[in-house]
Amino acid sequence: MERTTILFATKNKGKIREINAILADMDVNVVSMEDAGITVEVVEDGTTFEENAMKKAVEIMEISGKITLSDDSGLEIDAMGKAPGVYSARFMGEETPYPERFRAIFEKLKEVPEEKRTARFVSCIAAAFPDGRRLVSYDAVEGIIGWEAKGENGFGYDPIFYVPEKGKYMAELSPEEKNAISHRGKALRKMKELLRKEL
Ligand code: IMP
Repeated sequence: MERTTILFATKNKGKIREINAILADMDVNVVSMEDAGITVEVVEDGTTFEENAMKKAVEIMEISGKITLSDDSGLEIDAMGKAPGVYSARFMGEETPYPERFRAIFEKLKEVPEEKRTARFVSCIAAAFPDGRRLVSYDAVEGIIGWEAKGENGFGYDPIFYVPEKGKYMAELSPEEKNAISHRGKALRKMKELLRKEL
């Protein structure tokens, strides 16, 4: 039987590796936008993670003609009204270095005690099939915003996100440890179960 090709709508090689590892025991071949020769930028102008993820999956599926997966993720800080949320990548400007963003967040939270520094990374994965089927999975990892940036691994807001269940900051976890507990890892594994039923 021919292997099903699934396009993952990202330019991030790390995400392709992550999803290939998670889908390794399924008969699918995951390719990137670059592999498929697609260079369009989808404007992420939705107000929810699901809206953004589905918009991207549908637009890229329409161009590629292939089953397309997409993810949208971000950080919700409760004491900041769940900001930066869907604006996580653009918070304080897309080009603003993360250490500068961390300083601004620490400043905003300087009077906020530990028990109110709750936050979560959330991830929504959407799948669009050329025949009109749509799938959505969602998950989150709970943590707290620390008082310092710590760790060299991961990316984005990982250095300020303390994971109580690990007793470490997210950026101190190895890629394997992070995948096992992360919002995206969990949402991808849920998507895998949904895909199994459809393929
Ligand atoms: P995207 O939807 O995966 O592009 O993520 C949007 C933004 O959310 C990223 O640019 C990061 O700022 C933040 N983010 C998402 N996932 C993570 C993560 O696993 N660690 C740290 N930051 C993340």
